[in-house]
Amino acid sequence: MQNQTTPNASIKCSVSNCAHHCEQSQHCCLSTIQVGTHEKNPTMCQCTDCESFKMR
Ligand code: SF4
Repeated sequence: MQNQTTPNASIKCSVSNCAHHCEQSQHCCLSTIQVGTHEKNPTMCQCTDCESFKMR
C-alpha cells in the first residue's frame, strides 16, 4: 500500500477523486503511473487516460 502523504514531485495531478491523489500538494503519490488511451487514433490530450486511476 502506498503512503498517501508522500507526493511524487515528478507527477502533477489534479484528480482529487483518485485514491492515489495527494491533496495537499496536487501530486500523485505513486512512484510510477500507466498512461494509455481509449481511442484507436489519439489526436489530443483528451484521448489519453491515467490507467492507474483508482476510485477513492
Ligand atoms: S493514479 Fe493517475 S489519476 Fe490517480 S493521482 Fe496518480 S496520476 Fe492522478
